[in-house]
Amino acid sequence: MMDARRDPYDVAVIGAGMAGMAAALFAAEQGLSCIQIGNGGSLLFASGLLDLLGVHPVAEGRRWQSPYDALAALAQDEPGHPLARIDVASIRAAFECFVTALGGAGLSYAPLGERNRQLLTSIGTIKTSFGVPGSMVAGADALAARPPCLLVDFRGLREFSAAQIAATLAGHWPGLRHQRIEFPGYEAATELYAAHLARALETGETRGRTIALVKPLLGDAQALGVPALLGLARASAVHAEFEAELGVPVFEIPTMPTSVPGLRLLAALESALGGRGVHRRQQATVHALAFDADAGTAVLELGGVPGREQVSARAVVLATGRFTGRGLRADRDAVRESILGIPVQQPDSRAAWHQRDFLDPAGHALNRAGLRVDEAWRPLDAGGKPVWPRLFAVGSILAQQDWMRAKCGSGLAIGTAWAAIAQAGAALRASAAG
Ligand SMILES: Cc1cc2nc3c(=O)[nH]c(=O)nc-3n(C[C@H](O)[C@H](O)[C@H](O)COP(=O)(O)OP(=O)(O)OC[C@H]3O[C@@H](n4cnc5c(N)ncnc54)[C@H](O)[C@@H]3O)c2cc1C
Repeated sequence: MMDARRDPYDVAVIGAGMAGMAAALFAAEQGLSCIQIGNGGSLLFASGLLDLLGVHPVAEGRRWQSPYDALAALAQDEPGHPLARIDVASIRAAFECFVTALGGAGLSYAPLGERNRQLLTSIGTIKTSFGVPGSMVAGADALAARPPCLLVDFRGLREFSAAQIAATLAGHWPGLRHQRIEFPGYEAATELYAAHLARALETGETRGRTIALVKPLLGDAQALGVPALLGLARASAVHAEFEAELGVPVFEIPTMPTSVPGLRLLAALESALGGRGVHRRQQATVHALAFDADAGTAVLELGGVPGREQVSARAVVLATGRFTGRGLRADRDAVRESILGIPVQQPDSRAAWHQRDFLDPAGHALNRAGLRVDEAWRPLDAGGKPVWPRLFAVGSILAQQDWMRAKCGSGLAIGTAWAAIAQAGAALRASAAG
């Protein structure tokens, strides 16, 4: 089956993780016609927090209050790091555009400002992040001021324990209390899932009964923390009603995957892309990619859809992630890029992939393997030349970064997507003019 559309798209984005979503969004914002291929499932792992750069140098585990100070230090120490290659104005613009689009799709974020925030995790550790959902921001304020605070969880909810969070922080936050309650209507259930409870809280009766159970427990608490399950599609309204009825700031704490904030993020991004006219092939994967030099287009062969579909585009953005995303593949002897076999920058031998100590704070060389790109974000072939003049790569597939340890996952995805789409737009305009 050929794509019903005969004209090539301006941009085809391969991948629907954070980087692919950001690239498709920014392409549409530039007025470029865009198709996105890939499954957004990886976003379900997201906590909803948008890290920009929290830790640098990774080996020292140094946390930064200002992500922009951290970026300046990164630029000095690791000029080849993808985030160090993007000017700060672009990073600011990219984040503003991203959270504005999420807000427009009903998922509000706190104003971004200049500083990272510290937030509680579901096991009581503290996480540094930058873009914080409106439903979580009171948790950053509470953690900073440490007033009397109540944490509530629900019997049977998997992998979330208010008691554990309070115990972990006991020495630092004496006024932190915890309570476990039954989730109304689920008293007979032995195991609860956050997504089910989030949906249940969108009904007025369950919401009212839950609030009625929590209210008498508040005591002197000046803030309330709950697992992140205050609604799905109507999350802002559910959160607002909890605050209004309880009379204290209420904050969500991210849960383990599959997370409700991840579901919200996916839904909001899908809505933002749909509203901007991005065509999507969510169940499809790109099996092959070829370049037609005469026509100046790339032809993508799609699988996973009924029949066979071909899509053509004047520019392609590779946002296929690393090993879990399947953008990179590790064989016995080497790491390979999955679609085109683009050379991957990697250690000389498999023996050098990992440090001897699995928990080495510096991380492993394999985590920094990835695609090398030129100044226009185009992946390079073995001869150091762009694979194709309008093939770009963004997000975690890029070399010279360890997003997980540096707490820069979303920053890397959003920042590189912005920078690459700017280059794609310029290249497309130049080719149209020439
Ligand atoms: C456990 C976990 C926790 C996280 N927590 C945070 C957090 O707290 N803060 C934060 O900022 N970020 C967090 N992230 C998200 C992180 O920012 C991003 O996952 C990371 O930046 C990688 O994004 P990516 O889009 O580059 O790759 P991926 O998310 O791996 O996406 C790759 C995409 O490419 C698709 N794909 C691959 N090959 C093909 C193909 N041939 N055809 C079509 N599609 C293809 C995949 O299906 C997938 O959609 C978390 C991620 C995980 C996994």
